[in-house]
Amino acid sequence: MVAESSLVLRIPAAIYEQMVAHVVAGYPNEACGALGSQGDLVVKDYPTDNAAEEPDDFSIISEADIVRIYNDIDEYDGDMIYYHSHPQSEAYPSARDIDWAKRSGYLYVIFSLQYHPKPPYARLFKIDSAGSVTEGSIEII
Ligand SMILES: [Zn+2]
Repeated sequence: MVAESSLVLRIPAAIYEQMVAHVVAGYPNEACGALGSQGDLVVKDYPTDNAAEEPDDFSIISEADIVRIYNDIDEYDGDMIYYHSHPQSEAYPSARDIDWAKRSGYLYVIFSLQYHPKPPYARLFKIDSAGSVTEGSIEII
């Protein structure tokens, strides 16, 4: 894994707090959602249900939610970012995450709740089509 200093995502504090509340509410399952961004700035949070068959082990946004979110983001010409939580493990893409991310090309924000009930923390990743993982940084603004 390489760190890329140019990969930065700025998240307004009110949105970040909403994301944290969503992933904490999902505990001990994984929780997921999407963000709409413009440039490096997150402008909207779309918390969703986790449609995975084993929600304690993986997270999937349903096709219906993806379409709804994609259409909304399209209204302001934004980009979609995927976020989800790891209830027990590090905020780092699992093998299955990497496999999915390779195809989607989205940026990934991953929360870890491994120190629950302490607050979760988040990390940012870009995963390319070959599956190599680059970490960026998150700025709460
Ligand atoms: Zn994951």
